[in-house]
Formats: sequence, C-alpha cells, structure tokens
Amino acid sequence: MSVDSVKSGPVIWLTGCMHGDEVTGIVTIQEVFKVIRRQCLLCGAVYAFPLMNPIGFETGSRNITLSREDLNRSFPGNKDGSLAERIADKILATIRQTNPTLVLDLHNDWMKSIPYTLIDPYPNSGHKQAYQTAMIIAGKSGFPVVMETDDVTSSLSYSLLQQGIPALTIELGESYVVNENNVKRGVTSVLGILEHFGIIEATNGAVSSQASNAQDQKPFRFSFGPVSSASGIIRFLAKPGDVVKKGQAVAKIYNTFGKLQDTVRCDADGIVLGHSDSSVAYPGAPVMSFGIV
Ligand SMILES: [Zn+2]
Repeated sequence: MSVDSVKSGPVIWLTGCMHGDEVTGIVTIQEVFKVIRRQCLLCGAVYAFPLMNPIGFETGSRNITLSREDLNRSFPGNKDGSLAERIADKILATIRQTNPTLVLDLHNDWMKSIPYTLIDPYPNSGHKQAYQTAMIIAGKSGFPVVMETDDVTSSLSYSLLQQGIPALTIELGESYVVNENNVKRGVTSVLGILEHFGIIEATNGAVSSQASNAQDQKPFRFSFGPVSSASGIIRFLAKPGDVVKKGQAVAKIYNTFGKLQDTVRCDADGIVLGHSDSSVAYPGAPVMSFGIV
C-alpha cells in the first residue's frame, strides 16, 4: 500500500503481521491509510506491508507454518535461502529501495498486555544517528518506551538499524484478536509521528497529547523478571500497566490442593507489561514481563 505527495519529503514505512497471530497491525495500517487518503499528504510518502506473514495469519500461528520459521528471526534474509529468508530478503530490499526515513514495525504481545514501544540494542556498527532518531521517535509514540535486553540481531528493526535506517517496534497489546481500543491508540500514535515529520497537518489534539504524555519518561529495560520455581496454577496479583516496586508479590503459585508453592516477587521497580497467556506454571516458566527502571 502507498500514498505519496507530489512534494518530496520523509518516507515512512508501516509493517504489520510479521507474526501471523499478531493481527492488530493489519487493521491499524488500514485505518491510518483511510485517514491519510482523505487528507492528502503535505510532503513525502507513506508505504505499508500490512500482512507480511500470510501463511502464519491463515493458520493463526506466529511462525511461517510451512517451514516453522520465525520471520522476525530471519533478517536480513537471503534470496537463495530458506522460505523465511527469501521473504525477509524481499521485504528488506523493497523497503530499502524507497530510501526510508523511518520504519514502524507493528506487533502484538501476550493476550494480557499493554501497548509499548520496543527499541533494539544499539547495533554497534556506527549508525548512531539512526539509533538516536529511533529513540526520539519512540519518545513521541505515546507509549512507554522499553529497551530490548535480548540480543536479537535477526529482526527487521535491528537489520534496518544496522543499515543506518531508523526503525522501531510497537507492541499493540494482545495477539489473535483485534482490540479496537489498541487499534485507536496505534492509529493515534502513527498519525502523531506523521505529524512530527510534517507529512500530515497537525489536526488532532489527542495526537499531540498522547505523544507528549510519554515523551518525558525515561526508557524502561525489558525483563521477564523472576520466573516460576514451582509447578502449579498461577494466580496473578498485578495486572498489565500496574506500577510495581522491588520485592512486591506479583503472582502466587498453588498446587492442586491450594497449598502455596511459590510467591513471585519483582526484582526491580517498574511497570507490568503483560502476564503469561496461561496460568499453568512449571519451573523456569515466565510469569510476567516488566519494563524495569
Ligand atoms: Zn511479534
């Protein structure tokens, strides 16, 4: 999909459904395009791949079902490689051809999770400016900004940063089903970013207020926190979006007969980003994810 202006300017890419079960990005992109098609761009262009993993989408699965590969662990890709590597190569090459200013990759997280913006680790390849731009734009997304702590070097956003192209990931709440509220927040966030680049007129007060709310917050660091040390059933004591303190009990794990097996406590101050899709606990199972201070 694309909309462009006769006047040259910034080129923004929106990408969705890299993971087949993460469907909110598709609808968010559709809604953004409805708005920008109505009002004509002041300059530049907006491009989108709303559905990057159609095979995963049709089967409701994260990975490319045929080859079981994670597309977002297959970048920068290889035109002679595996199925996922060939798709990744095509996506990256198409984006690069347009000389992009910014790429926003839209994802979803656990079923119970809040929207947040995820920034990759610094690629350490001399592309400080691209990284700084990504940080600035993350601050304008209107969502809590979380620094990725895992070394995931084969994602789309990391591959773009490595090539000097600003990129970030926006996690828009739960997978599998479209949450209309998160679509609205995603659309507001993207339009706010397009306003920032002067691509569309600043028309919506909500856009700037959502963006300025989170702009001054310091970024959090991503953490799965303490994992479960026992088997049993999890009862969650905190919910996504809660501000939590170091040492606070956030979940309890009981055995079949109701006897307490483990109390999961935060190991740092922060916010709860989400909790696991299942209440089944086993030793080593992640229970919650946090943005820690
Ligand atoms: Zn994803």
